[in-house]
Amino acid sequence: MRARTSKAQHIAIIGAGIAGITCARTLVQAGHHVTVFEKSPGVGGRMASRRSAFGTFDHGAQYFTVRDPRFTQALNTTPQVCKPWSANAVRVLDEHGLVVAAALPARESHWVATPAMNALVKAWAQPLTDQVVLQTPIVGLEKDAIHANQWQIRANQQSADPSVRAVVFGGFDKVILALPQPQASALLKTAHSTLALQKRIAATSVLPCWTLMVAFPQASQPGLNTFGPQWNVARSTHHRIAWLARESSKPQRDNVERWTVQASSAWSLEHINDDKTRVEAKLMKAFSEVTGIRAQPSHVESHRWLYAKTDQALGESFVLDAQQGIGICGDWCLGHRVEDAFVSGLELALAVA
Ligand code: FAD
Repeated sequence: MRARTSKAQHIAIIGAGIAGITCARTLVQAGHHVTVFEKSPGVGGRMASRRSAFGTFDHGAQYFTVRDPRFTQALNTTPQVCKPWSANAVRVLDEHGLVVAAALPARESHWVATPAMNALVKAWAQPLTDQVVLQTPIVGLEKDAIHANQWQIRANQQSADPSVRAVVFGGFDKVILALPQPQASALLKTAHSTLALQKRIAATSVLPCWTLMVAFPQASQPGLNTFGPQWNVARSTHHRIAWLARESSKPQRDNVERWTVQASSAWSLEHINDDKTRVEAKLMKAFSEVTGIRAQPSHVESHRWLYAKTDQALGESFVLDAQQGIGICGDWCLGHRVEDAFVSGLELALAVA
């Protein structure tokens, strides 16, 4: 997507999820210089994948749907990366794993990136490699020490050894926060004169999610292809579990039996500060109740998403204070889906360009 080109600016983008990378790509196409700062060792944000000895788990977004033609156009720039997944066969199960609603009708395709969910943002970020600074959590925004109409940002950069050093990057005409709302809000609080922006995004809220990942390599013994249920994907009304998916049913994955289980928002919130061992034991018990799988997994791990799912969206696709030179984007501006994050990042970039 080619945007209108104005005078080239140097723009800092904080956050390399799909919103931040979409924004960066669009601004670069319009002739601007961007530097993307990401706190993690890789790009993708909540379109996340974790490796294990038994194959990958998509422990954040499970799949995405495509309704906006601009998303279709962007996906077509990396045509081999995304494949449809038969998640249309989603069932709804009760507390005991009984089906209370059969497979949902196939209203729209469910897409996944291959070979793992983080591959889409990785592919889009590939031409920006020199402009993405990883392992660099941004901790403060301030006016540039030399040019008062520009911004400088403070980071705690992690180095290989693994010490942390404070670094300042300066000379930015604009700063874009492509972050979950609570993290954007925390950064705004470090900068002077951003009270109006802080108030504008204050009414939005985001809920947490505990995710369990389990693998059963013993199910791959000869004559035994899978354990437990015949279905691969289900929503659940179990008070602990909202969603379960057999990772090995996704295209181009390892065929070792692996499940990703996402706890309900209410349960995650209630157990937000529990230790991992306790959370894993409780989710494992619920998993057995829902799937009927009683075998001990060879691999168990969990992840706590503090900011998983938008509860209250902003209702505008982005926020831009052109005078201050601060833009804000992310899924929570519009909703809680991958496509919302894409549209938010794209529309902010088009407004800036
Ligand atoms: P993020 O992906 O959160 O990107 C923000 C980035 O900013 C991250 O990489 C983060 O590390 C970085 N960051 C944060 N703070 C700093 C800092 N101070 N300095 C530098 N970097 C920082 N969507 C769907 O469409 N379908 C689904 O099935 C689905 N399931 C989901 C299940 C779970 C468990 C979760 C967590 C999300 C799910 N989603 C789903 C939502 C989807 O993942 C998000 O809508 C989308 O990925 C958000 O993208 P984003 O770029 O707005 O934010």
